[in-house]
Amino acid sequence: MTNLPTVGHFISGHRQPSTSGRTAEVFDPALGVATKHVALANQAEIESAIKSANAAFPAWRDTSLAKRQQVMFAFRELLNARKGELAQIITAEHGKVLSDALGEITRGQEVVEFATGIPHLMKGSYSENASTGVDVYSTRQPLGVVGVISPFNFPAMVPMWFFPLAIAAGNTVVLKPSEKDPSAAIWLAELFKEAGLPDGVFNVLNGDKEAVDGLLTHPDVAAISFVGSTPIANYVYETGTKHGKRVQALGGAKNHMVVLPDSDLELAADAAINAGFGSAGERCMAISAIVAVEPIASALVARIKSRMADIKTGDGTKGSDMGPLVTKVHRDKVASYIEAGEKAGATLVKDGRKVKVDGEGFFLGPTLFDNVTPDMSIYKEEIFGPVLSILRVNTYDEALALVNSHPYGNGTSIFTNDGGAARRFQNEVEVGMVGINVPI
Ligand code: NAD
Repeated sequence: MTNLPTVGHFISGHRQPSTSGRTAEVFDPALGVATKHVALANQAEIESAIKSANAAFPAWRDTSLAKRQQVMFAFRELLNARKGELAQIITAEHGKVLSDALGEITRGQEVVEFATGIPHLMKGSYSENASTGVDVYSTRQPLGVVGVISPFNFPAMVPMWFFPLAIAAGNTVVLKPSEKDPSAAIWLAELFKEAGLPDGVFNVLNGDKEAVDGLLTHPDVAAISFVGSTPIANYVYETGTKHGKRVQALGGAKNHMVVLPDSDLELAADAAINAGFGSAGERCMAISAIVAVEPIASALVARIKSRMADIKTGDGTKGSDMGPLVTKVHRDKVASYIEAGEKAGATLVKDGRKVKVDGEGFFLGPTLFDNVTPDMSIYKEEIFGPVLSILRVNTYDEALALVNSHPYGNGTSIFTNDGGAARRFQNEVEVGMVGINVPI
């Protein structure tokens, strides 16, 4: 175990070995074995990453928008040409199948493409004679050093939600990836350097709570972007704002899908499979609760169940449909939810704990519960695994009330052929984002 390679940091344009003496194991979830260690930064390493970003800021802020745009275009081209390599890295540490890994890179690449429009995005505004004889203008300016703290489930896409735009806008960045899958971030930083990004503009600091706290409290960090679980999001928001930083912190999720009696059940079942079991349910937009408005629940369950039989769970590099979960701890936690659902009296239609996969990886097959009720933990809590719950209700009003009373949000989708029902859904569902599928 001790001769495993260690993923260090990327500071001032170079890979930096770990000096803290603190490390964590990084697993290949499909094999179930540790394949690397990751450095867990100490105070000196935190200081070094922030100092590097701070030193690079004045020159990068003063670099023309045209030049920054050129670097973004070059980064986009390199990423597009070499995304296959990045997908392999993601699959080897996260476990998701290669097509899911490529999908997340594509979503991240879209942000890079958006950031190539930075000259336009940085435009200010001008109002003549806002008050008598007074003209008013506003400009967009970079803030300085920005900290990005990201979760395990999208080791490339979530960092790419933030660092391309932050950097294109003239900020410098210290990214603290998840310690469960740290290599994608280092690969992206090296690629960005190859695209012409000056040293120090983009730094990767690997670590745990100590590194996060370092970013949240350091006087030279101006802003924080965080994505992860809700308790940590709350902590990051409170601590960062207390230290005078601008903070955006995105937390956990539980997404509903409402299926009305007039909907196309084949389409709804396909969507449930893709949205429930893609990336083994380790997605903040994964569908977790399906609210079936009677009398279609049994017909929907039958369709989902029959499709589940075709899902091949296995190593993400070997043509499987669904890979393992990220760690044994997480696999066991998701399995404990299945046990809790059974104990609470839900009908276990398909039990993912019984899946047969070669090897010792952190596998759990797709799982389906029927007759789930709102008081059950499998409904109330974020499971973050391949577990779908069917809740049966009798009316559309009941479905809307259920969705709106859930403490978690992120997205909800509706299946119906009735445009009026869809419109009502759009106006009355309170959770963040609404996707409406009206197959008419
Ligand atoms: P997590 O909260 O455990 O970790 C997120 C980051 O916080 C990691 O970099 C981790 O090192 C750090 N961290 C963990 N514990 C910490 C502590 N005590 N103090 C300071 N920092 C700490 O989340 P995760 O398990 O990596 O990711 C899964 C979660 O992310 C799920 O809840 C999922 O819903 C959420 N997520 C949300 C979105 C969204 O858009 N809202 C997107 C992706 C993931």
